[in-house]
Amino acid sequence: MANPVIPFVVAVDGPAGSGKSSVSKEVARRLGFGFLDTGAAYRALAWHADASGVDTDDAASVISTLDGFDVRVGTDPTGYAVHVGDVDVTMAIRDPAISAIVSRVARVPEVRRHLIEVFRGLMAAERRPGIVVEGRDITTVVAPDAPVRILLTASEEVRIARRSAELVGDQALAAGEQLHRRDAADSKVVDFMTAAEGVTTVDSTELDFDQTVEAVVGVIRAAQPEAVR
Ligand code: C5P
Repeated sequence: MANPVIPFVVAVDGPAGSGKSSVSKEVARRLGFGFLDTGAAYRALAWHADASGVDTDDAASVISTLDGFDVRVGTDPTGYAVHVGDVDVTMAIRDPAISAIVSRVARVPEVRRHLIEVFRGLMAAERRPGIVVEGRDITTVVAPDAPVRILLTASEEVRIARRSAELVGDQALAAGEQLHRRDAADSKVVDFMTAAEGVTTVDSTELDFDQTVEAVVGVIRAAQPEAVR
């Protein structure tokens, strides 16, 4: 059963490289809302499992690390940080080595159940008037009752180009291949390529960053004018 959604929740899903993290963070800043990057928690668990010497291919081993997994994902869009215990992993979880293994931990149902409860707790504890929550299954599983639900997409070509923009040669090629592989693995677990009923698609293929932020704010304004100053 879906949890009651408090405070005002904007749910944003989308594939890798769709810009959902940076766009959601900027939307949250503009509206004075909190921001929750759920992918960061999956990445933090991948980091924790790896640091614990666990074989991330083995579901039972991954599940065994959940007990000691003390993750703190900040919801401040201006001073965002992720901790596992006392360790600040904000940067470490962006390492390509973590991106390469994160889908293996995210596909384990016990992991998903555990983290969904963590996310709902963070949403309920939010003291700002609203929170933008982004991931893969927010519109469908984590907050299906959210008053605003958005699927942020872009063509794969554009997503790879954005992800590779600061890389050259082999590195750019590898980033593109990894994005493609990660989407293929993740979409076996959750369908984030097609909008569920009642979910508004924002396609950013032809939009720049500011235009995408405006488009998302426009969807929120249309759904709930009083939520947007
Ligand atoms: O959003 P980001 O690319 O940082 O997510 C990292 C990984 O976390 C995804 O590739 C996916 O495996 C997992 N994830 C998920 N469900 C979410 C958010 C992220 O399975 N809601």
